[in-house]
Amino acid sequence: MSASQSGSRKEDIPIPDIVIDPSTNVRYMRGKFLGKGGFARCYELTDLNTKEIYAGKIVSKQLLTKQHQKEKMTQEIAIHRAVHHQHIVEFYSFFEDDQNVYIILELCRRRSLMEMHKRRKAITEPETRYFMRQIVLACQYLHDNRIIHRDLKLGNLFLNDDMELKIGDFGLATRVDFEGERKKTLCG
Ligand code: ADP
Repeated sequence: MSASQSGSRKEDIPIPDIVIDPSTNVRYMRGKFLGKGGFARCYELTDLNTKEIYAGKIVSKQLLTKQHQKEKMTQEIAIHRAVHHQHIVEFYSFFEDDQNVYIILELCRRRSLMEMHKRRKAITEPETRYFMRQIVLACQYLHDNRIIHRDLKLGNLFLNDDMELKIGDFGLATRVDFEGERKKTLCG
């Protein structure tokens, strides 16, 4: 298996098999590799008490050495943990150890619309209507709360076991501080 298939990069140090949230003492068992993004590696994490399975987004602190990288991570956590909606990936908790920051998220086992699009090539009109409604509901909720996601793309539109759409990855999200504010940050 290549480094990219196993989800490891040369600068990444291995993630322990058992991950412990020091504030609650909840222990999670690391399971299947789910995927990786610019910074994060995601694994299934099973709460050893409840047996509930989550998606654990794990970011190596070696990738967070610059001040602006730390601020982006803090901003992602602050925004994501504050939003709760049927069509947004639920943020349950976060913690850190010496090596990594861990974010415990709702598991979306059917991956994202990107994989669905690659596999299927075409999405039918009724399916599009079904997904669009859920995206619009989630965006309406975010905008009502003065949050803009700024990275809506197929790979960030996740699907759970019931094929419900969930917007995820708040890495580029920001708050609009006043009505009519124009952000100038270049995104993507
Ligand atoms: P980054 O912020 O570093 O780009 P992502 O949030 O895109 O990281 O996550 C990386 C990959 O992990 C995704 O492309 C996806 O394959 C997987 N992933 C992320 N969140 C979830 C989730 N909630 N459920 C299942 N898989 C996920």
